[in-house]
Amino acid sequence: MAGNWKMYKTPAETRAFFEAFRPLVQAASPCEIVICPPFPDLPAAVESARGTRVLVGAQNLYWAKEGAFTGEVSGPMIHATGATHVIIGHSERRQYFGETDETVLKKTVAALDASLTPIVCVGERLEHRESGQTEAVLCEQCQKGIAGLEAQQFAKIVIAYEPVWAIGTGKTATPEMAAEAHRMIRAEMRRHFGEKAAGEVRILYGGSVKPDNVKSLMAQPEIDGVLVGGASLDAVSFARIVSFPS
Ligand code: PEP
Repeated sequence: MAGNWKMYKTPAETRAFFEAFRPLVQAASPCEIVICPPFPDLPAAVESARGTRVLVGAQNLYWAKEGAFTGEVSGPMIHATGATHVIIGHSERRQYFGETDETVLKKTVAALDASLTPIVCVGERLEHRESGQTEAVLCEQCQKGIAGLEAQQFAKIVIAYEPVWAIGTGKTATPEMAAEAHRMIRAEMRRHFGEKAAGEVRILYGGSVKPDNVKSLMAQPEIDGVLVGGASLDAVSFARIVSFPS
């Protein structure tokens, strides 16, 4: 269960979130919880999460280890903060910052080289869905952005299916639509990495997940977890999401 804070919260607000969140998730279901704040909040988040089952991730990285790349942050730098995960290829990065399937692959390899778990995002835009291209788009993103990994690298990634039309819009894919897309992604992964590896990779659903719809999404066997934007910013709401079975 992963939270993407996007460009929200200062370090002080991060500490305040964890003060409220920690007691609420003490007894939550035994799922893995990851919170991905903006870069400047990573040290505060790691410190606040110490001694809890909550892990911390970044929202992006650059593929070089270091160098003359003004404004960029590398995998080893993120790892040194104590963060364990990194989101790669979020649709907002693809849409506003020119990320492509090719850069997604380079970033995924860089994350793994830095011992970070990449959460690799794929998803179709509204026009793709409306013109019946969902499967083709997902397969292409998987082929170019993920299939270039070696088998032992693939075993360490998490995939997030995030239909672009459902992100931040309040429009959630129905559980059946999400499950169908997850099956398409898993089938494509099976073609590249075989039955066992494709069966084991975790695929999260993301797109307007809220406390009120998480249970029906998670009831789909194809959905292994969720990636949550807006609803992860509030401690009570994200705690309700990660505690969904109760
Ligand atoms: C996201 O940012 O990955 C996301 C799914 O956002 P939201 O939950 O706000 O739609």
